[in-house]
Amino acid sequence: MQTERPQFVNKNIGRNERFMGKLKKGTLICPVCFSIFFDKQWHHILKKDLKKIDFKNKDIKFQKCLADEMIEKGLFEGELIINNLSKKYEAEILHLIASFGSKAKLRDSQDRIIKIEKQKDGSHRILTTENQLAVRIGKKIVSAHKKAKIEIHHSKEPYEVSRVVVSF
Ligand SMILES: [Zn+2]
Repeated sequence: MQTERPQFVNKNIGRNERFMGKLKKGTLICPVCFSIFFDKQWHHILKKDLKKIDFKNKDIKFQKCLADEMIEKGLFEGELIINNLSKKYEAEILHLIASFGSKAKLRDSQDRIIKIEKQKDGSHRILTTENQLAVRIGKKIVSAHKKAKIEIHHSKEPYEVSRVVVSF
């Protein structure tokens, strides 16, 4: 399992996606990524703001955020399979996926690529914490490579999972 170190991301984070320094009673902090939960959502925290937090404050509770809990349990909401990706485009596509993933995480601390792996049959499998992220990445690949075809399947049970297949 790939684990992520806390990433202290930068000013590109929107104001509404970022902890702005008001800790209320019962505030949750994720011990893995240091996202902070308030206003019904997990938010990014900047390193400089993290330093201001008194971790001995009893009003703070540590709890894994949804994304890290999902990663720990081996769960995912989005799966993207890429078939027949030739050596010629492999590096370009994998780079596109990784950069799409880091931008998504900047916008929302809970939108993450969990892993990118090459399977025994040569296909690539990308797992995401959020189902629309897999769909958006698949569409992005197809928009850059017109010959590639995309299929999108949604399943409701037991979890809302989107399975996206891109075939070259
Ligand atoms: Zn977290």
